[in-house]
Amino acid sequence: MQIKETYKKLLDHFGFQKWWPVHTGTDRFLEVSIGAILTQNTNWKNVEKAIENLIKDDVLSWDKLESIDLEKLKELIKPAGFYNQKAVYIKNFVKAVKGLPKERITRDLLLSIKGIGEETADSILLYGLDRPYFVVDAYTKRIFYRLGITKTENISYKKLQKIIQQNIPKDINIYKEFHALLVELGKNYCRKRPLCIKCPLNNSCKKNLK
Ligand code: SF4
Repeated sequence: MQIKETYKKLLDHFGFQKWWPVHTGTDRFLEVSIGAILTQNTNWKNVEKAIENLIKDDVLSWDKLESIDLEKLKELIKPAGFYNQKAVYIKNFVKAVKGLPKERITRDLLLSIKGIGEETADSILLYGLDRPYFVVDAYTKRIFYRLGITKTENISYKKLQKIIQQNIPKDINIYKEFHALLVELGKNYCRKRPLCIKCPLNNSCKKNLK
């Protein structure tokens, strides 16, 4: 099945997802970036709780995240899990990026920060800075493999990102929506044990188990 058709079918089924949720009054780029770090290895509900703690304590700003005591930061982001590491990653990120003009925030710069991998960097770039980088995650790899678009689920991040970017219009809104739609499909149907009977892609999927 063509990648563009997949996008259209998912959009018809789930509708626009309108990620990334941001609280009003906060710095969008900062909140998206902190969310992208916090969402590593956890679900969004847990991230929301951690972000709410940061907002309640009035520390979701560059200056306050830079000066907050590390132990206090760990406590606030605890709901997101892996809080010892993630607190350090947030500190690393703020130290490297605070005060930089947006045009100097490149993918390479983000990837040079300990704790920021490709998925996190691209989430920050796409959802925080409106740059055209498609975000690949484990759902994307699984779904594209099962659809028969890729030969292995262990395809490299870069390779799959390139395949997708070459097959959809270079449009940040489509990049944002498509990624969010793949997450929905992965959560609701294309799970480890797929629910193919009700899946919106089942007519054209190679691994369809119905
Ligand atoms: S038909 Fe099944 S394997 Fe294919 S995408 Fe849907 S849930 Fe996944």
